[in-house]
Amino acid sequence: MIQDNIESFEQALFADLGKPRWEAGGEVANIIPASLHAASQLEEWAAPEKPQVQEWLQSWDPTVYSVPKGVALIIAPWNFPIVLCLLPLIGAISAGCPTVVKPSETTPTCSALLATLFPKYLDPEAYAVVNGAVEETNVLLANRWDHIFFTGGGNIGKIIAAAAAQKLTPITLELGGKSPVIVAEDCDVELAAKRILWGKTQNCGQLCVAPDHVYVVRSVAPAFIAALKKAYATFWPKPIFSPEMEWGKMINSRHHARVKKLLDRSKGTIIIGGEVEGDQRISPTIVTNVQPDDSLMEEEIFGPILPVLEVENTDDAIKHIAALPSPLVLYAFTDSSKTKDKLLQQTRSGSIVFNDVYSQMSVQQLPFGGFGESGYGAYFGKASFDTFSHRRPFVNVQPSAEPLFAARYRPYTEQAYNV
Ligand code: NAD
Repeated sequence: MIQDNIESFEQALFADLGKPRWEAGGEVANIIPASLHAASQLEEWAAPEKPQVQEWLQSWDPTVYSVPKGVALIIAPWNFPIVLCLLPLIGAISAGCPTVVKPSETTPTCSALLATLFPKYLDPEAYAVVNGAVEETNVLLANRWDHIFFTGGGNIGKIIAAAAAQKLTPITLELGGKSPVIVAEDCDVELAAKRILWGKTQNCGQLCVAPDHVYVVRSVAPAFIAALKKAYATFWPKPIFSPEMEWGKMINSRHHARVKKLLDRSKGTIIIGGEVEGDQRISPTIVTNVQPDDSLMEEEIFGPILPVLEVENTDDAIKHIAALPSPLVLYAFTDSSKTKDKLLQQTRSGSIVFNDVYSQMSVQQLPFGGFGESGYGAYFGKASFDTFSHRRPFVNVQPSAEPLFAARYRPYTEQAYNV
């Protein structure tokens, strides 16, 4: 489906998000290696597991079978409207779950394209797209599901989890949050600036794993800010809204207004950007001198605004991070193995990545998911298969085991207590 229709997917992503072809093609193409990985590993993932057991239990043949949970519902958001429908679907298909996919109503071109293509490539008895907004989602949620996989914001996640709880349906919540970046005194600040700015401006900052804000150690703050300016000038040598710059747009005027309001209320210093065009475009913007109580620190920004907060040292950054809800990712730029160990031990987040952004997503073998307020459950690779599978333990006890059980039957004799 992806190979045959890559251009249609690119066009749909351009129509809904103004996404440059390079980014759109790359995004959708990710489905191919993920599918191939699942196809090549499936036999191994699905193989019955034989745990190591004591000798006297071996004749029972203890085994864990992975069985499909049943009928699944995938609810996806608008920011990666194709991939966030199809990546979890790979898990559902590989586990053997018939699935309804509910794309976001906010990206109508992509959602309509999925609805058109599904019946051409997938068995319509087993896989369906249902398009719609809140009303239609509520109708879906009123049904019985064996697993619900939701990607989106935490507030809607609570609504979905509450609906799932009514029927005790297991659920995966892939949520967002404010993923921080630490820039330590011992890192290559030029490289850090380039990678962070690139990451922050993918999909106009509308990524769940986007670097939300930066804690830079004060001693390297001037060099880091200079490097951000340099990277900016290299990425966008012409005015940002000129067509050659292929700068995308905020998903809609509501989100645009939300991000602009956060920026307008900020007490920080805009050192680059801050330009707005129409009601959907806002330029990549770097804001320095940001304090922890700034408007830009109130909620996940989900737009191309990068607040930079200065800290004394990495311990100080750790304290700031601990004061906020658990992020989906913690990024840190540092060359020190001592600092890396400290961050691994003293922070919480869905994933942790050193010296880059997004690289965690390239490793199919790593589970991807949140922790605490950024969600629960995980997917990617085997984790996707496991999400949609029930691990069903099995023992096959022989009638000839009866002598072993003799002592368990009533009446409990003195002899039984002495066994
Ligand atoms: P959204 O508004 O598209 O909503 C997500 C889905 O929930 C849609 O399908 C929508 O129809 C449905 N929905 C919306 N309101 C509902 C309601 N009241 N009842 C039932 N269903 C409802 O997307 P969003 O929530 O704005 O997505 C952005 C958020 O998603 C961000 O917080 C981002 O960080 C997070 N996100 C997380 C991941 C991840 O993998 N962890 C990936 C992408 C986005």
